[in-house]
Amino acid sequence: MTTQPLTLHSPLTELSGIGSAIAEKLNKRGIFAVGDFLFLLPYKYQDRTAITPVSELVYGENAQVLVTVQSARVQYGRQRTLVIECFDDTGLLTIRLFHFSQAQMKLFQPQVRVLVYGQAVEGQGRWAMMHPETKVLKSTETVTLSDKLTPVYPSTLGIGSVKISKWVAQALRCLETENLRDFSESFLQENHLAPLQQALKAIHQPQVGQRESDILNPDNPLLKRVVLDELLAKQIGMLRKKAYAQQAESVVLSIDESLQTRLLQQLPFALTGAQVRVLSEIFADISTEKPMHRLIQGDVGSGKTIVAFSSVLQAVANGLQTVVMAPTEILSEQHYQQAIKLLAPLDIRCVWLSGKTTAKKRRELLAEIADGTAQVVIGTHALFQDDVSYHRLGLAVIDEQHRFGVHQRLLLKEKAENTGKTPHMLVMTATPIPRTLAMSYYADLDTSVIDELPPNRKPIETVLLADNRRAELIERINNLVSTGQQVYWVCPLIEESDMLQAQAAEDIHAQLAEALPNLNVGLLHGRQKSDEKASIIADFQANVIHLLVSTTVVEVGVDVPNATLMVIENAERFGLAQLHQLRGRVGRGAEKSFCVLLFQRPLSQTARQRLQVIRHSQDGFEIAKEDLKIRGAGEILGTKQTGEMSLRIADLDRDCELVEMAFSLAQQLMEQDSEMADELVARWVGNAEEYLDV
Ligand code: ADP
Ligand code: MG
Repeated sequence: MTTQPLTLHSPLTELSGIGSAIAEKLNKRGIFAVGDFLFLLPYKYQDRTAITPVSELVYGENAQVLVTVQSARVQYGRQRTLVIECFDDTGLLTIRLFHFSQAQMKLFQPQVRVLVYGQAVEGQGRWAMMHPETKVLKSTETVTLSDKLTPVYPSTLGIGSVKISKWVAQALRCLETENLRDFSESFLQENHLAPLQQALKAIHQPQVGQRESDILNPDNPLLKRVVLDELLAKQIGMLRKKAYAQQAESVVLSIDESLQTRLLQQLPFALTGAQVRVLSEIFADISTEKPMHRLIQGDVGSGKTIVAFSSVLQAVANGLQTVVMAPTEILSEQHYQQAIKLLAPLDIRCVWLSGKTTAKKRRELLAEIADGTAQVVIGTHALFQDDVSYHRLGLAVIDEQHRFGVHQRLLLKEKAENTGKTPHMLVMTATPIPRTLAMSYYADLDTSVIDELPPNRKPIETVLLADNRRAELIERINNLVSTGQQVYWVCPLIEESDMLQAQAAEDIHAQLAEALPNLNVGLLHGRQKSDEKASIIADFQANVIHLLVSTTVVEVGVDVPNATLMVIENAERFGLAQLHQLRGRVGRGAEKSFCVLLFQRPLSQTARQRLQVIRHSQDGFEIAKEDLKIRGAGEILGTKQTGEMSLRIADLDRDCELVEMAFSLAQQLMEQDSEMADELVARWVGNAEEYLDV
């Protein structure tokens, strides 16, 4: 029997160990043919080239050791643990396994030798490894050390890294007789780039003697080459998505200057230069039939609301309906109140669809929305529900876009189908997006930045305070409130559980209410009903509540200029951008404002540095840049869970120069070599249609 030689285009099932079930899993990750394995990259390496004596382990570092079992026992506690005591000539090592079978347990008999790979930690005065990889050796078995680093592939596919590396090796073997399509010779030379094939090989199969820090070094030209490939692919995908979106048509609006003047005349202030500039960008967009797709970035308090409502006003003046969407009920109610204040005096009918709207009222509102009586519709995701149908929907304003997914954008488009046109879309975010991030992920949107705060904003004085000085702080709050000012007290962040978070808030509320018997201390958290929340916020706004103990639900939107002090507990647990956002709740009035970052001792060096960044900077962009270094992009954009924007090998902080390069090369490549551009997108982004959907 003759078998066809394997090629890059061979179907997956021709590889040993891949049946239809596994092939399907791989398909979901954009792997359809043998050659696609080349683009599934290791994210780290294991060094199994040597055996480390136990006495030479380094805390926190991975190592391979060869030890002999002394004893093994199961420990019952919160988690069933197999505790294996081992030794080599130089010292003792405790291995703890958390998932183990009966059969595995029996393997660890006294005197057997075990090859262990894991991270060295300290446990009760000796070295320990938590759930390392173990291989029990047969009595005569000798250990063969590998001479190269072992790549580790992401295990998110549920397929072991060892299997993946075998398939990758087979794909690499195809490269001996086949070629991957690469950039032209001149393109490579002009941009000082290594050939792709060579780069992929180097990353999948390190050379003898190479260390992880050699390969994953941002200056390694071979790594750079692959990173650029991925970034270019993303960039091209985005540009195509943009081009596609622009093929749709929107209603051309004519700008009614006199109405705009009437809106602004109601305000006690003049727009800042930045607000004027951004508004003119928006007005230019909506005056053409290309759908607007604009992202407005503006730090907390930069005045995005009036910019948004000016745009809404113009759409309404052109006979179109508009929606204003917010990520939370609280925020949507605030937008509604603003709309009533700013737009209702101009005879514009604004309605608010909320979770607490009664069924009867809801029916009335839906009828108004459907027949167009309602000109401005405000709400949360509920605006997308099936029973809401619109009348000539022409503009959508979406606040805090990072909490809205691609999916919702799609729904919105469907909602507007009855005009036969695509609505203009304005997205606003207070999350300052570092330049490299914006370049990579928002290339499909036009961006405007409101980079100027209204005049006379007083800087917020930020101080760090160790938690053991609470008593002084509480005393100071007492004095402050006696002068008529108000205080926020934000509870520690407990990401794991809403319930624990609410519990912590209740405890702190009880403590503070006891310590401050003369004050009215309110409590706000995510598990309260929405009308309860609304009434608490209303009481805080009316200064009936003096001190508001809250979880991060106050993060966005709550606007109480009389509140001049914000205390954030366990500030070291928060992301920097989030601290900045929270702090933005104060400093909105005439009085000088303060933010106290309470921290728990001991504070690590990095934690201290991070808090110093917040203390010294009030510039959201600068803070976000620092945050990007510490946390991944996905976390900043709120897309970590969805994986919507995950990169395989590029790292937006480490590779910021390459992001810029990809940004400037994408257009050129699309023009000069569109086939190569297609190929890039297919390799990295997978199914190109995915992009065209949105
Ligand atoms: P954000 O960008 O955080 O949404 P807002 O639109 O809520 O900011 O504005 C914050 C505060 O600043 C509001 O009280 C608003 O009335 C006020 N404001 C907005 N623009 C100006 C301006 N040009 N001059 C003075 N105050 C302004
Ligand atoms: Mg706002």
